Amino acid sequence: MITAREGLKTLNLELEDRVTERTQKLSESEERFNLVAKATNDTIWDWDLVSNTMWRSENFTTMFGYTRNDETNKISFWFDKVHPEDRDRVQDSVYDAINDHAKNWSAEYRFLKSDGNYAYILDRGSILEDEFRTPYRLVGSIIDITSQKAIEIKLIKAQSATEELMRKKDEFMSIASHELKTPVTSLKGSLQILQRIAMKLDPKDQMVSFINKAERQTQKMTALLNDLLDVTKIQEGKLQLNYSTFDACQMVKESIDEVGLQNNSHHLIFEDERVLEITADRPRLEQVVNNFLTNAIKYSPKAKEVLITCRIDKEQFIAEVRDYGIGIPQNKKEFLFDRFYRVQESSSHFSGLGLGLYISAEIVRRHNGSIGVKDNDSPGSTFWFRVPVKPK
Ligand code: ADP
Repeated sequence: MITAREGLKTLNLELEDRVTERTQKLSESEERFNLVAKATNDTIWDWDLVSNTMWRSENFTTMFGYTRNDETNKISFWFDKVHPEDRDRVQDSVYDAINDHAKNWSAEYRFLKSDGNYAYILDRGSILEDEFRTPYRLVGSIIDITSQKAIEIKLIKAQSATEELMRKKDEFMSIASHELKTPVTSLKGSLQILQRIAMKLDPKDQMVSFINKAERQTQKMTALLNDLLDVTKIQEGKLQLNYSTFDACQMVKESIDEVGLQNNSHHLIFEDERVLEITADRPRLEQVVNNFLTNAIKYSPKAKEVLITCRIDKEQFIAEVRDYGIGIPQNKKEFLFDRFYRVQESSSHFSGLGLGLYISAEIVRRHNGSIGVKDNDSPGSTFWFRVPVKPK
């Protein structure tokens, strides 16, 4: 028979055991917490929302140079050291997270070190709440991201410097091409008059061939200027389309004839005689075909043939130009339609501005069509575009 006194004693002993066990567990977990805090390069912090004080791991001193004491443990000390431009944002975000019962909080900001320099830090914490959903503690860590941030800032600066350069380049191109247009047009007119006079005097005179040469050069200059003016138009969103209904097959044929007249190095093969009626901007689509054809000739100096096909499929007009030239490396294909892009491996051997495909892509895009280059089995490349047969 156990007396009441003995029973109470046993109960007390059991309770004592349990308390010791819990205290042991607590000190074990605190020890583990301290070990983790020491092992990591981050600063670990523990903000007691009830006493409004902050415990920080030893790394706080290594990272920022402050000793850990009652003064530096104050929350006001933390906010005071946040860069004035970041302070409100950091303060608001952490209190908003606490009030909104968020689970986590994080912020990137500048923190003043004891040596007077600012460190860029990534500060992240978890918010702990009791059973009544009252937040009572935040535990988190700080990573020093100063060097990453420095690289990021350098990159942003370099990017904005590049954008500024591109803007100046566009501005220069726009002014230069506008200014050059008038003298080149007048030169072209004068050469044509000279040509007629020289032909009347003596068609076999050497002067006629020189005038013809000069005329061809002004034609090239006009084409370059037109490209530059088109780029300006695209940049300013002023590339207009004038729709009409025409035979697209005939349009391709005319383009082949025109390009063929200026180049007799290649046989341009197009055997399609169908009538393919579409409604689009004829001169602009012809410009795309011209660009494909001149590129096909230019980039296949050792080949003799260029194949051209066109068809209508699912309410889309499709034209393809295939050459047997140098081809395009697979990893360069995605950049071909970018402004000023030229494939580096070949750019030094062929003249060009890297604008033709950019302008072509914009023309096709304006028609709600698509443009691309195929993956060929054999050497060379096949450029294609498709546009709806009628605008929607
Ligand atoms: P450009 O020919 O004046 O350089 P484009 O915009 O017409 O400008 O073409 C961009 C680049 O695409 C060219 O510099 C060239 O590297 C590549 N390219 C275009 N067409 C072909 C082609 N048919 N074969 C091989 N490379 C091509």
